[in-house]
Amino acid sequence: MKIVLFCLLFAAEHLAAQVLLVQDMTTEQIRALDRNRTAVILPGGILEEHGPYLPAFTDGYLSQRLASEVASGIAARPGWKVLVFPQIPLGAESYNFLGGKASFPGSYPVRSATLRAVFMDLAANIGEQGFRWIFVAHVHGAGLHNRALDQASDFFHDVYGGRMVHLWGVVPVIGAWGKVLETVPDAAKKEDGVSLHGGMDETSLMLYLKPELVSPAYRRAPIHTGATLDESMNVAHEPEWPGYVGSPRLGTRELGEKIWKALSAAAVEYSLKVLDGDDPAKYPRYGDLLSKVPAYVKVDQGAIDAEKAIERKQSEWLSGKGLK
Ligand SMILES: [Zn+2]
Repeated sequence: MKIVLFCLLFAAEHLAAQVLLVQDMTTEQIRALDRNRTAVILPGGILEEHGPYLPAFTDGYLSQRLASEVASGIAARPGWKVLVFPQIPLGAESYNFLGGKASFPGSYPVRSATLRAVFMDLAANIGEQGFRWIFVAHVHGAGLHNRALDQASDFFHDVYGGRMVHLWGVVPVIGAWGKVLETVPDAAKKEDGVSLHGGMDETSLMLYLKPELVSPAYRRAPIHTGATLDESMNVAHEPEWPGYVGSPRLGTRELGEKIWKALSAAAVEYSLKVLDGDDPAKYPRYGDLLSKVPAYVKVDQGAIDAEKAIERKQSEWLSGKGLK
């Protein structure tokens, strides 16, 4: 028994030693890393309204946890190290745009061009230092957001020849979440409807991962949903819309655990496949799929208009000050 315990402790310590936090490292330590056998992890996170029961950093907490589980999955490979960056709490196109609302308490998105620029800048610096593998852990469903991260990933591949993948944006990873939802009883599926945001699934995930941040009032949450995508979008357009679409009261810790474990396992499996040489281009991307759905194209257009309005205000102020 003692020997087993020792081996387990040794394995855990060994794993921890392979996961490195870039903010704690010296120049020499970073220089010494084998570029071909070091995976860089960029955890993202959007500050975004999630209605009256869930915290604004719901997607950020999911991204944080995903980053740490993917890091452990890769570090378990003999000879590999993982370099984890501090969390970047920036994302684009918060879900209040579902209801055509440009501003909402809890939502602090950046423009999609800003998001793309941040991840391109980081990718460029990581690429200049010769690293070959970057995994982005950024859980948030909007089209502009996902395509911005995909584009930054393509930039890294085309210019630096390495691989950068936005994990949550590929169908094999995000699809694992959807597959678990298929196993939910029909009555619950019907009640949750086309849930889109802050409903049964996200409430369940937070009850599993961060229960202390879920308002107990979720148990009495009124249902705001539709039976079709268009109906759900209409619900979000109501003037008193509380910020979620679905039925949060159906959330359970058990469902959250099931969704989480499926999603996390799919992300680790996909990451390892990419490290084995699998070409990410052969998997469909969620952001591209959304751009073929007219209702989402409309949501994206609303977000683009709001981004342009903010950009205009900023550039007018800048040019008034003689700045570029
Ligand atoms: Zn969310």
